[in-house]
Amino acid sequence: MTNSLTDTELDRLLQAPEHQDNPLLPALKLLRKREQAHQQRLERLLRISDCSDDLARTQTHELLHQYDKQLRRLEKITRISDRYQQNLLELNEELKEVALHDPLTGLANRRLLMSRLHEEIERSRRHLQPLSVVMLDVDHFKRINDVFGHDVGDKALCMMAKAIEQQLREVDLCARWGGEEFMLLLPETRSEQAIHTVERVMQAIRSLQLRDDKTVSLSISAGITQYHANEAMDVTINRADGALISAKQNGRDQWQWAK
Ligand code: GH3
Ligand code: MG
Ligand code: MG
Repeated sequence: MTNSLTDTELDRLLQAPEHQDNPLLPALKLLRKREQAHQQRLERLLRISDCSDDLARTQTHELLHQYDKQLRRLEKITRISDRYQQNLLELNEELKEVALHDPLTGLANRRLLMSRLHEEIERSRRHLQPLSVVMLDVDHFKRINDVFGHDVGDKALCMMAKAIEQQLREVDLCARWGGEEFMLLLPETRSEQAIHTVERVMQAIRSLQLRDDKTVSLSISAGITQYHANEAMDVTINRADGALISAKQNGRDQWQWAK
């Protein structure tokens, strides 16, 4: 008898007539029965284990699928959130632009002007640099509205705003102070240089052609001054305004300078 005895051979040996009188036969048959029962139990267990492997595989697959789906959803949400944030940033920029500029002419409004004026005064104090301030007011502007209508008046304001800006440097600022009044901030500029700039501006305004029939002539009056060290900004503005009033009183289409 060898170790490699098969089940069939074993059963044949146990049934063989020549072994029927063997006293160990009942014990061997019992052992064989038990062994068969063990084998069946083992096979059943293996089948169950195979089934649970399949189940685990299916569940893992399903979980991975759901994970992928969640990941894709998350990526989509992240993309939407990025876009949303970008839109907010752009909207914020637009709001800032709207809040600080005049809607008609696109020039800086009074709020932006005051903030720049504040900064320039600080810079002028720190670096002992001259700073010039100019107040401009369109001459007899009411007549333009009265004769040609408000739309033409608006167009004139836009043309003048553009013409003024074209005469300025990058560092200068032209703001719409109100109605038909503008203010210029000219950093690092002495009064003599400011006067040159203002003369160029006045000439540019005179050259504007509002209507094809050339029936309208535009002109502007100016009050020029320079910031005095350590004075409040209102004092500088009032001095420029005083000079502007003098220019008006003296006949318009001219500048006046206040020390
Ligand atoms: P002066 O030479 O003394 O400055 O005379 P003026 O007519 O320019 O001054 P006045 O203050 O009498 O009139 C200013 C006019 O500017 C009156 C107002 O209707 C007009 N105006 C102010 N803002 C606007 C605007 O946004 N569009 C138009 N079309 N007109 C405006
Ligand atoms: Mg005015
Ligand atoms: Mg005016």
